[in-house]
Amino acid sequence: MPGPHRMIPPGTPEQPARPGTFRRIVTIFKPYKGKVAFVALLILITSGIGLINPLLIRVVFDDVIGGSGPRDDRMQLLFLVTGAMVLTPIIGGLLGLWQTYTNNVVGQSVMQDLRNSLYSHLQNMPLKFFTSTRTGEIQSRLSNDVGGVQGVLTDTASSLLANMTTVISTIVTMFILSWELTVLSLAILPVFLVLSRKVGKVRREVSGQTQESLADLTAIMQETLSVSGILLSKSFGRQNYEIDRFRKENRRLSKLEVKRTMIGRGFFALVQIFFSITPAFVYLVAGWIFLNNPGAGITFGTIVTFTTLQSRLFFPLGQLLNVNVEVQSGLALFDRIFEYLDMEHEIIDRDGAIELTPAETSGRVRFNDVWFRYERQSGDGTGDKRLWTISGVDFTAEPGELVALVGPSGAGKTTLTYLIPRLYDVDRGAVQIDGIDVRDIRLESVGEILGVVTQETYLFNTTVRDNLRYGNPDATDAELEEAARAAHIYDRIMELPDGFDTTVGERGYRMSGGEKQRLAIARVILKDPRVLILDEATSALDTHSERLVQEALRPLMQGRTTIAIAHRLSTILAADKILYLDRGRILERGSHADLLTAGGAYAELYHRQFSDGRVETRCEDGLVLASGEVVQESLG
Ligand code: ATP
Repeated sequence: MPGPHRMIPPGTPEQPARPGTFRRIVTIFKPYKGKVAFVALLILITSGIGLINPLLIRVVFDDVIGGSGPRDDRMQLLFLVTGAMVLTPIIGGLLGLWQTYTNNVVGQSVMQDLRNSLYSHLQNMPLKFFTSTRTGEIQSRLSNDVGGVQGVLTDTASSLLANMTTVISTIVTMFILSWELTVLSLAILPVFLVLSRKVGKVRREVSGQTQESLADLTAIMQETLSVSGILLSKSFGRQNYEIDRFRKENRRLSKLEVKRTMIGRGFFALVQIFFSITPAFVYLVAGWIFLNNPGAGITFGTIVTFTTLQSRLFFPLGQLLNVNVEVQSGLALFDRIFEYLDMEHEIIDRDGAIELTPAETSGRVRFNDVWFRYERQSGDGTGDKRLWTISGVDFTAEPGELVALVGPSGAGKTTLTYLIPRLYDVDRGAVQIDGIDVRDIRLESVGEILGVVTQETYLFNTTVRDNLRYGNPDATDAELEEAARAAHIYDRIMELPDGFDTTVGERGYRMSGGEKQRLAIARVILKDPRVLILDEATSALDTHSERLVQEALRPLMQGRTTIAIAHRLSTILAADKILYLDRGRILERGSHADLLTAGGAYAELYHRQFSDGRVETRCEDGLVLASGEVVQESLG
């Protein structure tokens, strides 16, 4: 089953690292430059310390064992040298530990910064981004990709410097000891350099694919292991299908991981073999020189020191050659992170946008010849043929008025309500609050003025209290109770095992649909917004539940401007204005009575949905309206 369309293709590994990736990585480290410099210093010191012992070996061989001075002096020298040989690794080890600690602190701080900036960047992304990107993909970038760069930050970057200093200092020392043997030992190095570039490229490609596969796997898990996902797969008996899908992706991931590891290790093994073999050549040549030309100046000490140095060279040099391979994998991850960080927010505060507090807002909402369309997806044949989703919509909701939006499915009612909180920006015209274009009001202010109750109530998996406080973090317990009572949910909350401290379950699944809605209403009551946007649930609540929700809504709507996508007759009847929307246009507007008399599209919809408007008198559970009608079905 193909995943939904992705807004941005994941980091395509074939592309070269974007220009500036490396520079940007350096910028990330800027706040920690002091610590980085300290790590560098420690690396230099430990590398220097590492050189001491091999050189001391030479002293032991040439000046102590093979020396010509007095025995006592040589004994003293031996104690001194071996004492130093014991001391230096201890100091080196301790400094190394200090370096690893500081290095990790820096690495983790950088990761923390990356995660923070990625998360805040994502919080401010427009709704469009979330409707077109899989949640799992987003989560994967935030956790897997940022997690993946840790190795590059803490290991690769520091090992680069450590290895470089070790390699350079060792080669220089080797050169001083015997340039001939040095050339012999390192002649094949350029071949490895070329090889490492090639291997690095492949590794980067595989890394990109691995992260992609990881994102796919995360997306599958996120989609199918959520309450909604599991409900769907269970009710359709598709568990085996989902298991299969998961297994397939999982297998792909494992294969890629093995491939990625093997590419790195394989190369490392090659270097290792080479460096394990070269001492044999050194002994061969040195032995040959020694036997055929004893006066050439190659001493026992030189040979032993040389091969010791050479073996010291193997690991860092191997790693250094491998660094390119590692860095390439790291760049693939950074590219994926930067790709998200570079995405524009689009819907942002304009320059000079004003603050508007709910207290100084009367709540007049005006749609001034508003035109809007969703972005078309070109090229893949799925583009919407309809030119405009909203066409020339013009109306005013006066302070305190209730405006009901009705119309067939897909007419654009929800879209219209999205334009007020700037979930999308209009293409033409303007949405105004108190005569000010919403784009000229700070987004945060708009958020404070508006309260939204949607069809699908979203609750966090935390306590009832915390969910309610989301509407107003400063609300007192008394205010919470008052809001819960007003929303007709207080008694139900008190029946829960821990009252207000009961956890509502994932997405509130432990609550019934009606209870969730009433909780959402209480949440908005606590927020006390000037303008209320209400998307009435179409899902058939039983009449008792419906009545409770209805009763909860009544105090909520009082004293504020309400724009309601109305599915219930009671809302429609209570509305000051009804706007009948079809294909993004307002076809009819007026009161219920006016529109019925006009006998147009609204009247037709009304008659179709409400059994010819016949007045029914129902049992006590039915919601008795002022007109004496009973709401049973929903409109819209
Ligand atoms: P309903 O009563 O069924 O909820 P509605 O009147 O609220 O319908 P909208 O949800 O506003 O209708 O949708 C209006 C049109 O815009 C529909 O044709 C829908 O397919 C399309 N649409 C909605 N959301 C998007 C989106 N994110 N991207 C592209 N098109 C969209």
